Amino acid sequence: MGILYSTMKFLRFQDHIEALRNHSVIAPVHIRIKPTNRCNHDCWYCAYKVDHLQLGEEMVEADTIPEEKMFEIADDIITMGVKAVTFSGGGEPLLYKPLPKVMEKLANGGVKVAALSNGSNLKGGMGQAFARYATWIRLSLDGWDDESFSKIRGVKHGEFSRILENVQNFAAMGSQCVIGISFIITKENYEHIAEACALFKKAGANHCKLSGVVVSNSGKENNDYHRPIMEPVSAQIRQALRLVDDHFSVIDHYHELEERFDKSYTFCPYQLFLPVIGADLGVYTCHDKAYNREGLLGSIRDRPFKDFWLSEENRMKIENFNPSTQCRHHCVAHSRNLAILEYLAIDPDHAVFV
Ligand code: SF4
Repeated sequence: MGILYSTMKFLRFQDHIEALRNHSVIAPVHIRIKPTNRCNHDCWYCAYKVDHLQLGEEMVEADTIPEEKMFEIADDIITMGVKAVTFSGGGEPLLYKPLPKVMEKLANGGVKVAALSNGSNLKGGMGQAFARYATWIRLSLDGWDDESFSKIRGVKHGEFSRILENVQNFAAMGSQCVIGISFIITKENYEHIAEACALFKKAGANHCKLSGVVVSNSGKENNDYHRPIMEPVSAQIRQALRLVDDHFSVIDHYHELEERFDKSYTFCPYQLFLPVIGADLGVYTCHDKAYNREGLLGSIRDRPFKDFWLSEENRMKIENFNPSTQCRHHCVAHSRNLAILEYLAIDPDHAVFV
């Protein structure tokens, strides 16, 4: 298996690079869909629920995409030639009952599907649908035993064990679907990173991605939170890396966190690669600006996604969106944006002097 995480994936999509050069809009490569805002976990740091983070500022927990509208969106995605869809939160996407049928439709239409989930419902028909249709699923697990997990997530004792059992059963199906774990590093769990990774590996996960919790819209405040734990986290990650073999990898995204806040660029190219459709039927620039008025490109409540996305209204919104003033907060696509903007800025006369 090749590299799964890379900032260079955009190089495979020259049509999108050309569209960016021409200031035009074509179908996104990949779309994140948030089918529902309902969740059965209550993580203390969840950006969608806490009041002090801009992400999810205007999220309404009761919002769910009506089934009929979801199938209309899926039809558009297939017709437009979108390559991939990831289902994520807002809420817990695997609680959305029509999801297996939606995944089947997309997969049969040539669209790759994936999900970010808490793993509680990765079982039964839902688990089978993922085994059959999905390219990957990544479960957010940030505890190392039942007690820690219950405290972090406000869930019943035993939920951690139940989810690890779901991982085990899913891995035993022998599907092609890659199962990853996202471990969000906090002051509560940083001393248990290696121990948790060993548990995930034993359960049959293919990798564990390590990232730092985002506690503020300010890079400085976020760094102040992480500075005291940075050294022990590095030691834990070094220990976790010893678990790496042909079947299990550890992806360290912890140390990138500090660079992802301030932006000097005035255009966000990533909007053309990975926009978001929310459960409120808003289309957003990206998942770091979902359910935030500033990030709203437009609503598809009364029109098909395809009509909106390819409209002049959307082109102008994308063109005029300014990250240097509108995104002074965490942005997961920051390094990708820097790479794409540098690529676009290469002088053609000098490009040949490789
Ligand atoms: S700069 Fe980052 S946070 Fe802002 S819209 Fe683009 S991807 Fe989203």
